[in-house]
Amino acid sequence: MIFFPELLPDELFYSCCARYHNESSNESILQSLKDLFGVAHTEINCHFPSRLNNFVTTCNKKNWDISIESIIGLHTIYPFFHPFLDKGQSENIFKMIEGTLIYRPHFILGIKNKFWTSVLNYCPDCIKEDDLEYGFPYWHRLHQVPGMLYCPTHCKRLKNSCPSCNLKFETHNILLILPRYCTCGCDLSWDRASQIISLDEYRAQLQLISISKDIAYLFKSYDIVGQRCSFRQLYKEYLSKTTYSSLNGRLKQRDLTNDFMNFYSKSTLALLQCDISHINWIQHLFNKNYNHPLKHVLFIRFLFGSVIGMIQEVQKVA
Ligand SMILES: [Zn+2]
Ligand SMILES: [Zn+2]
Repeated sequence: MIFFPELLPDELFYSCCARYHNESSNESILQSLKDLFGVAHTEINCHFPSRLNNFVTTCNKKNWDISIESIIGLHTIYPFFHPFLDKGQSENIFKMIEGTLIYRPHFILGIKNKFWTSVLNYCPDCIKEDDLEYGFPYWHRLHQVPGMLYCPTHCKRLKNSCPSCNLKFETHNILLILPRYCTCGCDLSWDRASQIISLDEYRAQLQLISISKDIAYLFKSYDIVGQRCSFRQLYKEYLSKTTYSSLNGRLKQRDLTNDFMNFYSKSTLALLQCDISHINWIQHLFNKNYNHPLKHVLFIRFLFGSVIGMIQEVQKVA
């Protein structure tokens, strides 16, 4: 590896590897993988890299300033999960990414459903801006976070396919850069005018935008939130001071669930795959090892109004 492209703000590590492959003269992806990670047959996972030890060792030999911590903290979606994991779980994730433990991060991260696809998302406005600023668009990590349906900067609905030919940006076993133009010729920064939507959909849209902004805030406060892992305790302490606690200290589950369901529109919960009508997952949030970050974010917003509100509460308690 004689060069590695500079990692850009909020760029997904996978994106930079794809740019490396694109800019190198390598004919096969296997050669690029060998350059980057020392082995040709390694799993390509767009969300979480593996074998970073090999990658960083090669970079350090060339005196390139890059560390595993900076890649994970600034160029993966790990900070979304971090606040809800205990110390042992986060240590294991790091080991899996480094390559010293069998690679199975998705088993620990609390989200095991169909959120994990190998199709990447993009925002048309970010494409336009990045192309202007850097000369090309790139994959943003925030756009890949489960539950992030809108770009937190432009409030635009994220897309995962070409609006003209519907081609999906599938990354399975390939290193794919985000192009400005699809192979059909369509400019991906083009945004079709939005259709007329119902009131419930409009309410959901506003909620999904503020949820996206809250998730983005969680990334900004990576260090602050990470210091406090006991959300279970925080919820209990906070609820004990509200009318959701009876005089003998018991939690009024039904009131809590009803109010939570009224707080969010049905479409919001359905689109986020966090519907509550079949499984009441609110009670699970009080279990020690329940670390589904999106459900925690939804509950935090319900209790504290926003992630910022929750952080202020954490600082008050600390
Ligand atoms: Zn954007
Ligand atoms: Zn197309």
